[in-house]
Amino acid sequence: MTRIVVVGGGAGGMELLKKLGKRLGKTGKAEITLVDVSDFHIWKPLLHELATGSLDEGLNAVDYRSHGAKNGYRFEQGPLVGLDKDQKQLRIGATFDEQGNEVLPERSLNYDYLVIGVGAVTNDFGIPGVQQHSHSLDLTSEAMTMRKRIHKLMLQHSQGLRHGKLKMAIVGGGATGVEMAAEMHHLTEMMQSYGFDLGDDLLEVTLIEAGPTVMPGLPKAHLRAAVAENLELLGVTVLTDTRVTEVTQAGLMTASGEFIQSDLTLWAAGVKAPEVLSTLGLHTNAQNQLSVSDSGQSLTDPAIFAFGDCASVPQPDGSFLPARGQTARQLALLVADNLMLLQEYSDVELKRYVYKDLGSFVNLARFHTVGNMFSFMKGGLALAGCPARFVYASLYRRHMLALHGPIKGGLLLVLNGMQRLFRPQLKLW
Ligand SMILES: Cc1cc2nc3c(=O)[nH]c(=O)nc-3n(C[C@H](O)[C@H](O)[C@H](O)COP(=O)(O)OP(=O)(O)OC[C@H]3O[C@@H](n4cnc5c(N)ncnc54)[C@H](O)[C@@H]3O)c2cc1C
Repeated sequence: MTRIVVVGGGAGGMELLKKLGKRLGKTGKAEITLVDVSDFHIWKPLLHELATGSLDEGLNAVDYRSHGAKNGYRFEQGPLVGLDKDQKQLRIGATFDEQGNEVLPERSLNYDYLVIGVGAVTNDFGIPGVQQHSHSLDLTSEAMTMRKRIHKLMLQHSQGLRHGKLKMAIVGGGATGVEMAAEMHHLTEMMQSYGFDLGDDLLEVTLIEAGPTVMPGLPKAHLRAAVAENLELLGVTVLTDTRVTEVTQAGLMTASGEFIQSDLTLWAAGVKAPEVLSTLGLHTNAQNQLSVSDSGQSLTDPAIFAFGDCASVPQPDGSFLPARGQTARQLALLVADNLMLLQEYSDVELKRYVYKDLGSFVNLARFHTVGNMFSFMKGGLALAGCPARFVYASLYRRHMLALHGPIKGGLLLVLNGMQRLFRPQLKLW
């Protein structure tokens, strides 16, 4: 039986697994295995909500083992650490418990086709202090670590153990940075409603962007301006054209010599693919992304495919795909189609991917949402407020429906909505 190993059960990987599992896994045509460092999936664009507690992993996480059992794939936990492409064998690193004790040893897994979708990690651009003194939102575990830190600081302020402002610096004016800045204000409001003794002016959030504008991914200037304006209305200080040169425990140094104090720093200033990809003997670019053709196939080895943030995919105009949720999803589904074609026919022309920009949305917690739909059509349709909020929320709903099917997915969404009515809005533990 054909062995297909998928490394990375993220935004793209889960939808690919659902499709492959249904067509090949459940029908016994292929043995499909997912490898992931984590043992559950949370949709990455919601990690900032996980980091404040407004998203409860207990309600939103998808357990790989149980999802796999129902959807025709099995699960192996651990990081991808090596590859022998001649033997068609990958190495999975050991896993450890919270005390650092080994749970599973390093091991090997054989494949006929390997699909890599390990996403991206924060790019520190070699700037001193970033690794040691800032948080990042690459993995669910990092979001949960950050949540503990934020709640501890808030609790200490509430109990009078810390005085003055809670200063937070966010480096990077893309979706992660912008949404986190707004989410912090939402968190403060919710904590106040739970009886935490926090002043309305507790937060001092500074958003620092090296480029000339926040949300450069939004295609229209007035949408980018609306984001900046709404952040400023919340009290966020937005610094554009500002380059950070060092991060310390006390704050950030900028290229102009200004020191920005910070009790809590989030680094969201750009991404690159995980380092391990550049050690596999496959062609990669300077950001460690695997070079693949527009069929998702590695330029080095036709038995290996990649998609999403960790793949460098050329487009007909010579550009490369942006690292975004929609590109991860679209290419992952095309890779699934191509694997099904290869399963049926030994000599077949694979499907080719052409990027279609369906739009971008940014959600400033409960305060505002803006975005642009159908950007591929004559500039698309700009939306703000409730309609934008509806479209933004429907992206996650679509992901859940894709993962669970219309009936179970629909029921889960209804249940989730009801839980939000009856359970606390904030996860504090
Ligand atoms: C807060 C936030 C907001 C965002 N908002 C938007 C947005 O509004 N619009 C948008 O288009 N994009 C947004 N993004 C980016 C979007 O989430 C990514 O582009 C998308 O998730 C990429 O999907 P992927 O499948 O390539 O990787 P991911 O979804 O990142 O999944 C990667 C998977 O690989 C696993 N993994 C990582 N390393 C290893 C390893 N060594 N071995 C095994 N497994 C590994 C991870 O655990 C994870 O399950 C946002 C990201 C964040 C953090």
